[in-house]
Amino acid sequence: MGTDQSHRPVRVVVLGGGYSGLWAARRIARRLGGRLRSGQVLLTLVSAMDHHAFHGWTAEVITGDVRPEHARVPIDRLLPAEVTRLYGEATAVDLGDRTATVQTTAGTRVVRYDHLVVAVGSRDARDRIDGLRAHGWSVKDDGHLQALNVHLGEVAQAATGSDPAERDRLLTAVVAGGGLAGTEMAAAILQRLRDEVAARPALAAAVAPGLPRVVLVHSHDRLVSDMPPRVGDYAARLVCEAGIEVRYDHRLAAVTADGATLDDGGLVRSATVLSALGQDVVRLPGTEHLDHDERGRLVTDAFLQTAAPGLWAGGDVAAVPRADGSGPCRSDALWAISHGKHLGDNVARAVTGRDLVPFGFRGLGRAASLGVGRGAGELYGYPLVGWPSWLMRWVLFHWFMPSRRVALASAAGWLRRTPWPSRRVSRQGAAAS
Ligand SMILES: Cc1cc2nc3c(=O)[nH]c(=O)nc-3n(C[C@H](O)[C@H](O)[C@H](O)COP(=O)(O)OP(=O)(O)OC[C@H]3O[C@@H](n4cnc5c(N)ncnc54)[C@H](O)[C@@H]3O)c2cc1C
Repeated sequence: MGTDQSHRPVRVVVLGGGYSGLWAARRIARRLGGRLRSGQVLLTLVSAMDHHAFHGWTAEVITGDVRPEHARVPIDRLLPAEVTRLYGEATAVDLGDRTATVQTTAGTRVVRYDHLVVAVGSRDARDRIDGLRAHGWSVKDDGHLQALNVHLGEVAQAATGSDPAERDRLLTAVVAGGGLAGTEMAAAILQRLRDEVAARPALAAAVAPGLPRVVLVHSHDRLVSDMPPRVGDYAARLVCEAGIEVRYDHRLAAVTADGATLDDGGLVRSATVLSALGQDVVRLPGTEHLDHDERGRLVTDAFLQTAAPGLWAGGDVAAVPRADGSGPCRSDALWAISHGKHLGDNVARAVTGRDLVPFGFRGLGRAASLGVGRGAGELYGYPLVGWPSWLMRWVLFHWFMPSRRVALASAAGWLRRTPWPSRRVSRQGAAAS
């Protein structure tokens, strides 16, 4: 849809305030700033959460290296005033009437659109394992990371006055999934529990050797098996040196109040069972009849448009073809940001009647941190480990944080964290979050 001749404003609605939606809204606002200010274009961001969550820093929030508020920034601070914010959950879209229904705390709103950007992402897969929702932990959805952060302090506190068997359970954690996120989280939780014990001299004196204990359950025979072998070997060596127990070729079968049951029937008594088994794509009612891939992602063309007129998609919710023809893009933050920026540019082109440009980003890299200076990742497909990988990740994360001010505050926090690599934990803000 080009410039509207009927003097009715062009209505652009973005669903989702994650990486893809936020960057799309910012790009549209930048490209169409004059038209937004004159009222020719109306831009609305609909988000279930009123803040943007920077999931990349999840492990560092657990270890206390990044303050929680640096990984969770209010959306109001990230968008120009011309963008209307609507905080609530989009419950349905009507592709014929071109409307989205949004459930807000003030009631149901129906929002009309000419262009709708679907960037509702993915959510913790909490129903794949029996008992996970009731007794387990995950970290992506709203409030879960904050709750886990508090929980890890509480188990250490409770362990201080417990008998040895209960202390053993409280200071044992199980992480399911030995991909990049799970391996990173296992290392972070072990470090955090060790810090919690060290901060309590009575507990430190009482704990049995081998505690705190972290068990990493992985269904393959290699960690981070989707990365080059050198990266997997490096991660396996560091995990082993750290004292993390890996149960290769095992799956988490169930979670109870007592701990984790594995697929061989064995029970690991544990007060903390974390799932890093992946995410479920958010399904938006009203889009079911559109093309989806086998993971449930909305299929788009090279311009990030779906088959429905005026409907665009990007990020984890979308299967966007790679420029080199090697299949759809990976679901991660870097790709979601690139989708968002490109979507924003193409929506602005569509509104102003210009030709759309195909998505051309070819990827950059990815990495996990298994501790300061211990990165495990790849850059343009080449394995990168140790300090180079860790520094690459650190620089890229700060570069891609949505607020320069918050990125500077985060970087300053890291620089105050001396002497390296020994730890000086600062977890101010964790309790308040
Ligand atoms: C623990 C963890 C660590 C990670 N670490 C990394 C990393 O180091 N590097 C990396 O590249 N990737 C990482 N990822 C993956 C990355 O977080 C995702 O790929 C990324 O979040 C996808 O961005 P998105 O914008 O598509 O969706 P999301 O970030 O999921 O954002 C979707 C947004 O839409 C909102 N929403 C959902 N449903 C609705 C609705 N119906 N109505 C309105 N709003 C809705 C959500 O509240 C959210 O704000 C990590 C993920 C996790 C869980």
